[in-house]
Amino acid sequence: MANTEQDGPMTPAAPFDPAAALAASKHTFGEHGGVNMSIEASTTFTVMTAATMPEIFAGQRTADRDGCFLYARHFNPTVYTLGRELAALEDAEAGYCCASGMAAVSAALLQLADAGDHIVSSATVYGGTHALLRELLPQKTGITTTFVPIDDLAAVEAAFTPRTRVLYTETVSNPTLVVSDLAALAAIAHRHDAALVVDNTFCPVLITPTRFGADVVVHSLTKYINGASDLVAGAVVGRADFIARLMDLHTGTLMLLGPTMDPRAAFEVSMRLPHLPLRMAEHSRRALLFATRLAELGAPVVYPGLPTHPQHALMRRMLNPDHGFGGMLTLDLGTRDRAYRFMDILQNQHRFGFMAVSLGYAETLMSCSASSTSSELDDDALRAAGISPGLVRLSLGYTGAVEDRWQQLHAALVEVGTLDRQNIGTQANRTGTPS
Ligand code: PLP
Repeated sequence: MANTEQDGPMTPAAPFDPAAALAASKHTFGEHGGVNMSIEASTTFTVMTAATMPEIFAGQRTADRDGCFLYARHFNPTVYTLGRELAALEDAEAGYCCASGMAAVSAALLQLADAGDHIVSSATVYGGTHALLRELLPQKTGITTTFVPIDDLAAVEAAFTPRTRVLYTETVSNPTLVVSDLAALAAIAHRHDAALVVDNTFCPVLITPTRFGADVVVHSLTKYINGASDLVAGAVVGRADFIARLMDLHTGTLMLLGPTMDPRAAFEVSMRLPHLPLRMAEHSRRALLFATRLAELGAPVVYPGLPTHPQHALMRRMLNPDHGFGGMLTLDLGTRDRAYRFMDILQNQHRFGFMAVSLGYAETLMSCSASSTSSELDDDALRAAGISPGLVRLSLGYTGAVEDRWQQLHAALVEVGTLDRQNIGTQANRTGTPS
């Protein structure tokens, strides 16, 4: 990790290149010298002498230091290799993978907070995370959460109590695309001896939260990192001692709650990492182009790459070079009915993309957040999070000709009455493709 100081806002000393870091981490050969690592499809591992086994149980021999493996819920070599690659991507000391993004979020939080402890969280987080913090954790563990607008740093700091162990946020919030000031949040968390935990699912490659002082980074690998919408997976990265705690035989949440990743899934994800930077750049390029054109037409678009976005300058400062502002944008169509009509037209008439939750796929995925991925939030929480009933979240894909896609998007907005008919076909000539 670049920054290890515990207080004060942090800015990275030198630009970080996640593509280079990823490439450097890819040095695992297959069993017979194959260019791809082997899938270590074993749940249990032999030792050469009987005396070795108790040493592994006692932690005197480790996967990390000695290449000693015991049992695949603890460490599997293929899953372990993917964890190392993701740690490299996130400029962290270590990482380990698990069965889903929610497993990563819950394991990290339960490791950091004990019964009766307190969490300060952004009010706008993925619906499943919101439900975990607001309902499951208090009921089952007595860990309580105060939700705050993450762009109001005074409110964030005021919410801390002597029992606060974690400040939790998403780099770019799901679905409202509010950008977190990670350096300022890290400084607040560290002033209170708490850990900053960042869900970087929307921004792999784009932003590296550890560079700004994040202690733990979690990912749903189900999204951009895997990129094919064909498997569910998660990861936690951070300092080596924290990852070791997750796997502790007596108190490790990943070890004992058991959300283990299958080595076949780890192999699949690893195979998609080399083109992750290329995919992110193309998602971003198209999102910026469409958002720019939509904004010029007066459409109700939100995209952090637009200079009018409240945290545009902040995000620009945090970005790694060359991969843009990401592939997520929102359109607030005012009412749920109009949002539904818009998505029906886009999917069934124009074949623009799919009405589906999730994100980071090659095709565009669109959903009405209030009635889908944020439906765990009640009306008050939806209001506090700024999620209106007509908000459509688009995870912009990269298939199809760009201008065909633009015409489809534009036509659907005209058909639901959000844009004027006379603008059809002229906009593509006015705004070129941003590089
Ligand atoms: N974090 C974010 C930002 C998400 O959008 C999601 C799922 O949509 C998750 C975490 C949970 O991930 P998973 O579905 O892999 O458990």
